[in-house]
Amino acid sequence: MSDNIEKKIIKTIKIDVDKCHGCRACELICSAVHAIPKYSSNNPARSRIRIIRDPMRDIYVPVFAGEYTVAECAGRDVYTIDGKEYDECSFCRASCPSRDEFKEPDSGLPLKCDMCEEEDEPLCVKWCTVDALIVEEREEEVEEPDEVQEQEELELGLGSLADKYGLDKLMDTVARLSEKE
Ligand code: SF4
Ligand code: SF4
Repeated sequence: MSDNIEKKIIKTIKIDVDKCHGCRACELICSAVHAIPKYSSNNPARSRIRIIRDPMRDIYVPVFAGEYTVAECAGRDVYTIDGKEYDECSFCRASCPSRDEFKEPDSGLPLKCDMCEEEDEPLCVKWCTVDALIVEEREEEVEEPDEVQEQEELELGLGSLADKYGLDKLMDTVARLSEKE
């Protein structure tokens, strides 16, 4: 067994689609808390949660930004909800080259929900007054990556971002983010 097993509190945000009424307060606060400087602006295009809205059918589906992917999927499924067809991409969490969702609008860099790691709690949950978003916590044993593995993962991630966006754009964005510190 690995020496790097640790107990961690894992946070999950449960989404109750039936309670969401599409107010987009979650998008607003997410973009504001991640603005640089914090709360200096709000722009739902920078949010790490987005609401798929179809007011005529009373359909609102919150989707959290997930992992970055270098290539789009080769196939598509189609969902039918209350008679309306949705491309599988509608509900996908990935920041993907085939679409603009979950990309920082100025730099094009991928966005991913970080569970508001610098805050006491996920702010989209706090701002959702109808409890469509609820945090659940559980304790799990997880394997901590060792330093070599972490370094390899970091280099892999930076390498793929540099390939995609160019080193200059990547460095500019890192410099801009570091001003936040
Ligand atoms: S704040 Fe809650 S109700 Fe409003 S759009 Fe977001 S998830 Fe839906
Ligand atoms: S948990 Fe925080 S980072 Fe994630 S979507 Fe909600 S407000 Fe944004």
